[in-house]
Amino acid sequence: MADNFVTFLGTAGARIVMAKQLLASGGMWFNLGGVQILIDPGPGCLVHAVKKKLDPTKLSAIMLSHKHLDHCGDISVMIEAMTEGGFVKRGAVFVPEDALENDPVILKYLRGFPRQIVVLKETQSYRVDGIPFETSVRHKHGVETYGLILKLPEITLSYIPDTVYFPELPSSYSGDVLIINVVRFASADNLMHLSIPNVKELLRQVKPRAAILTHFGMTMWKARPWEVAEQVTQETGIKVVAARDGQTIDLNQLASRGQTQET
Ligand SMILES: [Zn+2]
Repeated sequence: MADNFVTFLGTAGARIVMAKQLLASGGMWFNLGGVQILIDPGPGCLVHAVKKKLDPTKLSAIMLSHKHLDHCGDISVMIEAMTEGGFVKRGAVFVPEDALENDPVILKYLRGFPRQIVVLKETQSYRVDGIPFETSVRHKHGVETYGLILKLPEITLSYIPDTVYFPELPSSYSGDVLIINVVRFASADNLMHLSIPNVKELLRQVKPRAAILTHFGMTMWKARPWEVAEQVTQETGIKVVAARDGQTIDLNQLASRGQTQET
């Protein structure tokens, strides 16, 4: 069985927590059976990756859920690092169309550096180095936003990025492990982000074995994410953990821990 890990190069969500760097904001670095994928490289990604001895020239792909700065601040930096300064044409980049056009977040001079730049559309299938993945329905979040469902041989892994909650959201996702961006502790209709009540609803409907919460805004941070995660675990019977800056989580182990708890 191949190892599947994720390292959190940051757990900050939304503007204040990012701008003050109360939490780091470098995104998530996956090692999925040896295939390394970086998702949502926010500000500080390169610095935190190097500190963790993660090598950008080993990345198979960089993926972006949407072009808000806390997700894409370092995307041009990471494309340049992945391609050894543009001297080695390698790696794939997957982004929504609006990241490339009209107020683009990927600098034009480095668009020829990766092996390919692929435009993400909603509910489509893609593949990177043997790993098939799908996009979710388009999220409701201001800019073009998609979640990702990675179909690994051992587990299915879904990443649910920023969105306001809407009824079709849960049916767009599946999997053994969900990674959920939860900016808000309490529900608030006027904000385009998920809250803890939304997380509980997602867990009830998607029924994963386990979930990881990340991308915390100020209200989540003040509520102590790890305590909130424990409460949600108690209420839903699904193993939920809160990611910490710099933490590496064994996804196979988390999925099996969740399963053990259910039985
Ligand atoms: Zn956003």
